[in-house]
Amino acid sequence: MDLTHLTAAELAARIADGTVSAVEVAEAHLARIDAVDEKVHAFLHVDRDGALAQARRVDEARARGERLGPLAGVPLALKDIFTTTGVPTTCGSKILEGWIPPYDATVTRRLKDAGLVILGKTNMDEFAMGSSTENSAFGPTGNPWDLTRIPGGSGGGSAASIAAFQAPLAIGTDTGGSIRQPAAVTGTVGVKPTYGGVSRYGMIAFSSSLDQGGPCARTVLDAALLHEVIAGHDPLDSTSIDAPVPPVVEAAREGAHAVSLAGMRIGVVAEFRGEGYQDGVMRRFDEAVALLRELGAEVVEVSCPSFDKALAAYYLIAPSECSSNLARFDAMRYGLRVGDDGTRSAEEVTSLTREAGFGAEVKRRIMLGTYALSAGYYDAYYGSAQKVRTLISRDFDSAFERVDVLVSPTTPTTAFPLGERVDDPMAMYLADLCTIPSPLAGNAAMSVPCGLAPEDGLPVGLQIIAPALADDRLYRVGASVEAAFRARWGHPLLEEAPAL
Ligand code: GLN
Repeated sequence: MDLTHLTAAELAARIADGTVSAVEVAEAHLARIDAVDEKVHAFLHVDRDGALAQARRVDEARARGERLGPLAGVPLALKDIFTTTGVPTTCGSKILEGWIPPYDATVTRRLKDAGLVILGKTNMDEFAMGSSTENSAFGPTGNPWDLTRIPGGSGGGSAASIAAFQAPLAIGTDTGGSIRQPAAVTGTVGVKPTYGGVSRYGMIAFSSSLDQGGPCARTVLDAALLHEVIAGHDPLDSTSIDAPVPPVVEAAREGAHAVSLAGMRIGVVAEFRGEGYQDGVMRRFDEAVALLRELGAEVVEVSCPSFDKALAAYYLIAPSECSSNLARFDAMRYGLRVGDDGTRSAEEVTSLTREAGFGAEVKRRIMLGTYALSAGYYDAYYGSAQKVRTLISRDFDSAFERVDVLVSPTTPTTAFPLGERVDDPMAMYLADLCTIPSPLAGNAAMSVPCGLAPEDGLPVGLQIIAPALADDRLYRVGASVEAAFRARWGHPLLEEAPAL
């Protein structure tokens, strides 16, 4: 039995009943990483000793007869944006190279407390800015379906690690699509929870009003199990929601068993098609919509006219917030320090360090954001973007008066070749056309696999969007869709993924 091909739920059950030990499971995944990561480059850091020590703790707890959590002993890959005590955290940037955090992010802490085994830290676009992982200061990640193509971004390492069977679970963060777009192009499941649903404490800030951590997995149930571990109120994050976590696991189980969607009203977003959308992506999406109807859902078209301005608003708000958040990398507090030879002022050292430590995209956004926030331009740029943000939220509100969830393709195209859009920021930004409205409104959204595009044989994602705090609806619909797809077309990743 190949332990790396089991789901997290299956692994947890076998560890709990003693069929396998957590150490054996960790070793199998570490061996897989050894075998394939030279090609995939999903990891920036593999924490072999830490993983095996945690696995041993789970085995010992089980031997003592302690009750284990639902994912105890299951391995996981953590995006390198979360702080981990004693384990390097770079956020994909040279400016944090060599920094060892003195504390755990709340997400890290909850994973450890639940007995998950953190295998290592995954590659990402620098400070989560990008859609291809090519903005990582440490080289790109390959898409396990075709190593010459992008695994998505910014969380390409997390998505690739689960698509390459290096880990059954991973954690990502989504500011404009960085969990869902990588999920779509790697044939995996990715969820952006409701804003405030998962603590941002210790999650290095890019755009604080948009950033949200969430689960990545190969199945909807696995994503739900992980969601439940990391979600919930955290007094250390002032934007954390003080309310019970939506019943995501129950919803995923229910969806998988009762595949019918009778009584569910589903809206197809009219704005998410047309120019720039690949034929094969739309074909799979239209088939998915037909399937939703067959499952008993009432499907209607809804219009969200302000979505056309979402990308423009996002590329003012996100850079504005990043220009402020990234001011803390001043050469005095963390990681890199350049030019500190006793002859230069603190200001000169800061400037030399930021020049050497930040990559081109990060600098572009700091400049854009600083400009948009400057006196005289603030109202015209940042202020207008905030007004558009309100209009987008209103579009969602009126859509959700008519339907329970919205659906769209997750991305306009399948995975594009590495190198194709690196020098063309506008083309790169278009990869997030369908994923950007949700973070602007703060609601919840998921990407589930929806077959392969006929023209290139690469995965296509179906995006499901639910109102804020109704994350369980994503899992209910996602699990039904997954079960129905699987019965009809098989599971792309589990049955068709090419060997590495
Ligand atoms: N690709 C988008 C960007 O570059 C979204 C990134 C993200 O969600 N972190 O900003």
